Amino acid sequence: MKYERSSALFDEAYRYIPGGVNSPVRVFKSVGGVPVFMKSAKGAYMKDVDDNTYIDYINSWGPAILGHTHPEVLEAIKKQAENGFSYGTPTELETEIAKFIVENVPNIDQIRMVSSGTEACMSAIRLARGYTQRDKIIKFEGCYHGHSDSFLIKAGSGAATFGNPNSPGVTAGTAKDTLLARYNDVEQVEDLFRHNQGEIAAIIIEPVAGNMGCVLPQNDFLQKLRKLCDENGALLIFDEVMTGFRLAFGGAQEVYGVKADLVTFGKVIGGGLPVGAFAGRNEIMDHLAPKGAVYQAGTLSGNPLAMRAGLTTLQLIKNDANFYQNINKTAETLDFGIGKILNEKNIQHVINRKGSMMSVFFHISSVSNFDEAAEANHSLFNNFFHQLLKNGIYLPPSGYETWFISDAIKQTELEKTLEVLRKFEYSNL
Ligand SMILES: *Cc1c(COP(=O)(O)O)cnc(C)c1O
Repeated sequence: MKYERSSALFDEAYRYIPGGVNSPVRVFKSVGGVPVFMKSAKGAYMKDVDDNTYIDYINSWGPAILGHTHPEVLEAIKKQAENGFSYGTPTELETEIAKFIVENVPNIDQIRMVSSGTEACMSAIRLARGYTQRDKIIKFEGCYHGHSDSFLIKAGSGAATFGNPNSPGVTAGTAKDTLLARYNDVEQVEDLFRHNQGEIAAIIIEPVAGNMGCVLPQNDFLQKLRKLCDENGALLIFDEVMTGFRLAFGGAQEVYGVKADLVTFGKVIGGGLPVGAFAGRNEIMDHLAPKGAVYQAGTLSGNPLAMRAGLTTLQLIKNDANFYQNINKTAETLDFGIGKILNEKNIQHVINRKGSMMSVFFHISSVSNFDEAAEANHSLFNNFFHQLLKNGIYLPPSGYETWFISDAIKQTELEKTLEVLRKFEYSNL
């Protein structure tokens, strides 16, 4: 494959955009090479500016769960666009999507829309602090909750990829209120509660972590966190920006049967347009402005184009009774297929998967927290990434990221992917 035009565009972007990209993981800093510039995407495929096509296993980092440019979502956006892009006034559509989500997700009465997952998590934490009148929060190493100050402490995703999970610019004052624990380590959380009695507002967690690669909660970890929160008067916040409407319609709350006090959303609920949201019971959500005193706002919050794209996406999922069954089956086929091939080639690895989220880690036998994710052989992943890329298969460009399977990926794409894997020069890995 040739990447001439991508190369030229990257050189030019580099002059005008910091690092050439508007979000750090898009650059191939971890895997090496020049980032590929895309120009179009449809269904399971993306096409780059040099006319190479790829089967897409990122799907915009999760939002494109139906595959790209679904015809009904496209039609809905076009129709809304005819009536205006944004009004800065309430619209009926906002209530329609709020009602739809509240009726379909467990344990929430009200939902507030924002424009990104970052905003959703930042606002949820402020609300938790305002509601409990406490300052401290617990987060887990390797979890990513967007780039607001409180969360850039041992953060995952790009922060982990670039090896500086603590960002300069976060003040010591802010950092001291973020307490850290190891994912899946309930004793550490107990210790934190013991040493900070009456001071912890909330635990925030990715109920299935996706930003240190895919890491699953083990041994009733989520249930135990629920119990600790109850005993200590703290709120449990599920960051379902990735898992919401991906693992199930009711997200991780439904899959694991654990109630969260606040839930944040993003990615899938925008159907590819910029949307985030946070939701909870009335008694908590009533503390938000304008009804309550905790301030939060947004010029483009509830933007009609974004709401229409999101609602149409959610309705399409809802109307397909076998949606999750099918997409999970696709991911399972990929998981088992890759596992079989790597075993045949004697390559030690572990595949972590929940539903349609998965990651492959090399030269390690299990990954249940950030330290183990970091111990995996990432240079081998980088090699794996490039071998797939040059054969028209697009993975996230970092071993600390999750692959997102879309409903547009079918037997043809799976066979092509496994075929490429079988032909690998494993001596290079
Ligand atoms: C992507 C992500 C975010 C941040 O969302 P943005 O829309 O990128 O701001 C927050 N939490 C989780 C779990 C995410 O995966």
